[in-house]
Amino acid sequence: MELDDNIYKKLVEIVGEKNVSRDLVIRQCYAYNWGNDTINIKRGKESSMFTDTPIAVALPGSTEEVQKVVKLLDEVGLKFKAQSTGLGPWTCASSEDVMIIDLRRMNKIRKIDPKNMYAVVEPYVTGGTLQAELIKLNLNCHMPGAGPMVSPLASSTSMCGPGFTSESTGFSGRNVLGTEWVLPNGEVLKLGSLGLNNNPDWYNGDGPGFSLRGVMRGASGTKSGLGIFTAVAIKLYPYPCDPKWNLSGVSPYYEFEVPNFMKFYILSCKNYDVVEQTMYRISEEEIAFMLWSTSNLALGALFSRNKAELMQLASKATFFKKPLVVLITARTKREFDYKNYVMEKIIEETGAKDLISKGRITPGTLAYCEALRSMMGFHGFLATGSFQSSFGGIDSIAVSFQMVKVNLPIKRKYTKKNLLPDDQGESHFITTYEWGHYAHAEMPTMYNVNIPKTRKAMVDYFDEADDAALYNHLNIPFFIEGDELHDKWGPFVCNYNVWLRKIKETFDPNNTSDSGFYISTKKELEKKKKQ
Ligand SMILES: Cc1cc2nc3c(=O)[nH]c(=O)nc-3n(C[C@H](O)[C@H](O)[C@H](O)COP(=O)(O)OP(=O)(O)OC[C@H]3O[C@@H](n4cnc5c(N)ncnc54)[C@H](O)[C@@H]3O)c2cc1C
Repeated sequence: MELDDNIYKKLVEIVGEKNVSRDLVIRQCYAYNWGNDTINIKRGKESSMFTDTPIAVALPGSTEEVQKVVKLLDEVGLKFKAQSTGLGPWTCASSEDVMIIDLRRMNKIRKIDPKNMYAVVEPYVTGGTLQAELIKLNLNCHMPGAGPMVSPLASSTSMCGPGFTSESTGFSGRNVLGTEWVLPNGEVLKLGSLGLNNNPDWYNGDGPGFSLRGVMRGASGTKSGLGIFTAVAIKLYPYPCDPKWNLSGVSPYYEFEVPNFMKFYILSCKNYDVVEQTMYRISEEEIAFMLWSTSNLALGALFSRNKAELMQLASKATFFKKPLVVLITARTKREFDYKNYVMEKIIEETGAKDLISKGRITPGTLAYCEALRSMMGFHGFLATGSFQSSFGGIDSIAVSFQMVKVNLPIKRKYTKKNLLPDDQGESHFITTYEWGHYAHAEMPTMYNVNIPKTRKAMVDYFDEADDAALYNHLNIPFFIEGDELHDKWGPFVCNYNVWLRKIKETFDPNNTSDSGFYISTKKELEKKKKQ
């Protein structure tokens, strides 16, 4: 599909010639992404890393330009997909009449308010950039497990948002405050205290009156299905330890001077019940910066710097039973001593074994740096070049472990046939949120994208895992997105799909915001059926 000359000219008027492109080569680049292979199979298409080629790409540089571009597309009957840093299949167009709105020119930290502990960021500010500024002020921010290179704005407004530090920093949907939102018709909606008539400011994301946070993002975000966010305030946290940052060496063999006060515990538990009980206890005491349970293979990957180290550590880790990772941080020695004392008591109480004090595993200094920088997710790509996760519901710690147990036999069917890499079916990531008030569980699989039967197996396994979550009432997985899946799940969950569609129709009657990873209006659905 080609962009009409008149529309192109109008776009040039809005963003300037060098900030809009309908060149096929540029458009093709935007059609490529990690994870498209499995999405294409699901949509009955060839399993390629490229998906639909967008009709054009525009790079607006301000909220006003975003408004004008969106208004134009709404008027001419085209669609748009927003990208902040553009990581993952959900940033790609889901049909050929979609234009990519790449927000990389909107890259300012608009404000840091250290007293009230929030920062206001635009879409292309990465977690890493923001954190580098915050460290100077003894502050920190939550980052999703994807790492410091993704956008806190995209995660807070439009995606899920669990991360490795979720025990102490929650998840992205809980950290979002005042929000500047360009609706699919080009109007700006200011959410929370930003919308007040008197003294508007960014400090609150809800009200006045009804909160629209659920409409704006719900649990997993609309993934650009309901407009474009141009700035957002996010809650900040105290920096967890001494904010000194001394790094030396050459990638991947960096050495980090571990600051006062940090200490990893890698616990080996007899079985999942003990892991669960230990997580509840540590959470109750509110002492951990990080608290997550994972598999032996993942533990090997997370604490290795390259494949050789992974192979060594993974074979050792096979004997670690069920591991649990805890990171204790503190600002004073007294606080540090207290937290470690409590940890020792819990270890005694639950019978878990501390593998570090027994000399069975020694995290390198880089692991401490990656913990502070939220960089551990990278390791998911170490062994095979790609990974994806099934499940993903937000629930209690206990329900999270039910997910792990239900997943085991399903995953093992695929690993036994050598269709998926052999993790004994145990690969999982469970993190607590906010001192165990609730938790997140996903089951990652590292897989090789170059093997067609593996790509297909990933999709089949995902479908089975989704069904298992559905029929065992294990919460809604985070990849239940798009019309087909929402309409399948809705009847089991209070017909939420009916309400979600009503929201879409109210905010976006022309279906201008690409609904491929959200939900379409009824009119759009009928149009798709006829095609
Ligand atoms: C190794 C790895 C680990 C991961 N672990 C986690 C994890 O632990 N937790 C988690 O939540 N996610 C995880 N992810 C997914 C990841 O969070 C998302 O890919 C990332 O948060 C998206 O941020 P981004 O800057 O890349 O946004 P983008 O990739 O640009 O966008 C993400 C989504 O938001 C939409 N969007 C972006 N900007 C806007 C905007 N301004 N307005 C409206 N819509 C917009 C996009 O269309 C897209 O649907 C992981 C990914 C990887 C590669």
